[in-house]
Amino acid sequence: MNRLRERMAVFMQGRYGMDQLGKVLTYGTGIILLLSMILKVDFLYMVGIVVLILSYFRIFSRNIGKRYDENQKFLTLRYKMLSKKSKFMDRIKDRKKNCIFNCPNCKQKIRVPKGKGKISIKCPKCRIEFVKKT
Ligand SMILES: [Zn+2]
Repeated sequence: MNRLRERMAVFMQGRYGMDQLGKVLTYGTGIILLLSMILKVDFLYMVGIVVLILSYFRIFSRNIGKRYDENQKFLTLRYKMLSKKSKFMDRIKDRKKNCIFNCPNCKQKIRVPKGKGKISIKCPKCRIEFVKKT
């Protein structure tokens, strides 16, 4: 058993190994292959195999700099997507608590709290007042 581990260590020397992108690819392979079995879609199975080959290719790659760059790009993209998602969720939460009206005069967007009944809203831009139900 130790010999095998030693051999593996020698084999992995100078090779890239696992990173965050690698983990996503590995989990992705599992999910895609599982889906292809459940849904019985051959195309998904092929996609799963391609992703599997890609993830092994990255793990055993000797081009460490390039693989590192790929992972950095992936992390940046993931960060952007996550922050976009949280902004989107904030907006949904906001919509539950607030109403947005357009000023009838200047079309300025005005945010007012929901559930206050009929209220008079004063436009901050043109100072016009209008009554709306929230
Ligand atoms: Zn206005």
